Amino acid sequence: MKKITILILVLLLATSFVSIEPKTIYIQPLGNVKQEYINYLKKSVESFFGYNCVVKPKQNLTSDILAGSKTRYEAGKILKKYNSNENVLLITEKDIAHRKSNEFPEWGIFGLGYRPGSTCVISTFRLKKNVSKAKLLDRLKKVALHEIGHNLGLEHCTNDKNCMMTSASGTVKQVDREKKWFCSKCWSLIK
Ligand SMILES: [Zn+2]
Ligand SMILES: [Zn+2]
Repeated sequence: MKKITILILVLLLATSFVSIEPKTIYIQPLGNVKQEYINYLKKSVESFFGYNCVVKPKQNLTSDILAGSKTRYEAGKILKKYNSNENVLLITEKDIAHRKSNEFPEWGIFGLGYRPGSTCVISTFRLKKNVSKAKLLDRLKKVALHEIGHNLGLEHCTNDKNCMMTSASGTVKQVDREKKWFCSKCWSLIK
C-alpha cells in the first residue's frame, strides 16, 4: 500500500513538472502559405511547448489589415482582428510591418505578439531571401517560438544571446545566432 502511495505521488509530481499545461494553439494561415511551412510549425510548437496544435483553414488577406502604403500588412491590425480567447499563431507569406517611429511608420518585421496574450503573427517574407528551405524553416521556428514566448508573458531576454527571446532588432543575423532554446531564466518566468 505504501509503495502504491509513493508511486502515485511520484507520478503526480512528474506530471505537474513535465508540461506547462497542455493547451491548444491554433495555426491560422493568412493567404497562401506553403503546407510544408505549416506542418513544420505545427511539429515545432507541439514539441517545444507541449501544446496541442490545430491547423485552421486559410483566411484571405483583406484590405482592412493593409498598412497605410497598401504595399504590406500591418501586424497590429492583424493581431486586433484575429484576437480571441483562443491561442492563435497567424502565419503569412506577405510582408508585415509595424510603426517603429515617425521616421519608420512601416518597419518590416518577422513577427509580433501580444505580451501577455493569446495571439501572435509571423511572416516568412523577410526570412526567405537567398536562403535554403532548411534555413528558412529553422528561422520560422525560432520566430514562432519567440512570439509565443511573448504571449506567455516573456519580455526580450538580455540574459543570454543564444536565447530565442533575445530581441532580433530587425536583423535576421540575431535569429540565426540563437539556439532553438530558451535560457533557464525565461523558462522559469513561464512556469
Ligand atoms: Zn520580440
Ligand atoms: Zn532567455
